[in-house]
Amino acid sequence: DRKKLGKLKKTPAVTIDGTPIMLMANIELPEDCAAALDAGASGVGLFRSEFLFMGRTGYHNKLPTEDEQFESYRKAVVNMKGRPVTIRTLDTGADKPLDMAEQTALNPALGLRAIRYCLAEPQMFLMQLRAILRASAFGPIRLLIPMLSHAVEIDQTLQMIAQAKTQLRTANKKFDEAIEIGAMIEIPAAALTLPLFIKRLDFLSIGTNDLIQYTLAIDRVDHEVAHLYNPLHPAILYLLSSTIKMGAKYGVPVAVCGEMAGDTRLTRLLLGMGLREFSMHPSRLLPVKQEVLNSDLRLLMPQTRKILRAIEPGAIAEGVERLAAL
Ligand code: PEP
Ligand code: MG
Repeated sequence: DRKKLGKLKKTPAVTIDGTPIMLMANIELPEDCAAALDAGASGVGLFRSEFLFMGRTGYHNKLPTEDEQFESYRKAVVNMKGRPVTIRTLDTGADKPLDMAEQTALNPALGLRAIRYCLAEPQMFLMQLRAILRASAFGPIRLLIPMLSHAVEIDQTLQMIAQAKTQLRTANKKFDEAIEIGAMIEIPAAALTLPLFIKRLDFLSIGTNDLIQYTLAIDRVDHEVAHLYNPLHPAILYLLSSTIKMGAKYGVPVAVCGEMAGDTRLTRLLLGMGLREFSMHPSRLLPVKQEVLNSDLRLLMPQTRKILRAIEPGAIAEGVERLAAL
């Protein structure tokens, strides 16, 4: 079976009706690009940059320097040989603590984390932005911002990016002036006020791991409530499908980069909602591609619409089973 999947590596990801689907890889370090390429990824849909910062603070409290970061980002984009690399700025806090201060926050998942932390530490944030921008001179990079929920946070972030660009121009350092900027949609408030994001940004990527956590009020790492962490909750399906639909309506690309994107039981449902870009752990890429190759959107779309009208879990589960049988 592994051999059979291996043969799909070079096969373009196109549905039976001829719709091309982008299958991208999630990576944590530039070294992961080898696995991404090996699985035939069209690019990196999520580079979780916090892994460059983790496991090195604490006692010495040392963050990676601008040059160290630049080298990692440059390596990733060079390794991907012309394919797009989506670099997410530092997404620290809660399940990915940078130091003890965050671990002792009263409610880390709701605290000063990710973009909130970056906006509170402007020098550190500017340093990362400069490093990412400098790497964009070496290949196609997209800049992705985690955990945005307020218009003012988007505006402040865009101002910081403009400031980092100005600093680089002054220092005569090259970067991609037209670098695309996108937001993670992973807080329900963001999904419910999407026009604020569409108006200001070039692309969106839905982080279902956190979107589920925050919509259902289920700590994503708490085993006691893991049985309630349900991607098929009608509230999640609504937020997903409305985000994908509105992105399509306004011509802003929408990806899914949470665990849902790599779950073959959900591939057809996401395709039926209109999703055309999936980003996942490299090991999930070929199984998802196989599912894409066997899917016919002409059959999936009407069946998915029925699922989206349902609210009873039994009806939703039955609908998903019917999708699998198409
Ligand atoms: C997510 O929240 O779905 C996501 C992709 O980001 P992370 O798992 O790193 O929070
Ligand atoms: Mg997240």
